[in-house]
Amino acid sequence: MAEETDKIECIHCGAGLPDGHTSPCPECGQKGRRISIGIAEEIDVAGHITWERRREFYEKKPLVLATAIAITIGAPFLGLFLIGWPGVIAGLVLGGAAFWIGPVAVIKVREIERGG
Ligand SMILES: [Zn+2]
Repeated sequence: MAEETDKIECIHCGAGLPDGHTSPCPECGQKGRRISIGIAEEIDVAGHITWERRREFYEKKPLVLATAIAITIGAPFLGLFLIGWPGVIAGLVLGGAAFWIGPVAVIKVREIERGG
């Protein structure tokens, strides 16, 4: 037996949001949503019922993600305006910034509980 549930809720007030909801929260008016994927399994092993529950959270930070995308797309174009070494250095600095910002944009948290 395996049960899978997806839940989308506001990260600010916890109000439930419909799937594909991208506009501000109807309850508190703030943007940001949390997607919870909960998988509960019951496994019968040698007469003992054990269970395992996994919860995975994807915490998306839209502003950080947008900044990382803007830097990644914008960096090569900066070379058009800054010709020579200034352009190369600016590109390297922005590329480095995007490298560090990128992983912060989407944080994946996994919780596993076991019992029996
Ligand atoms: Zn809210």
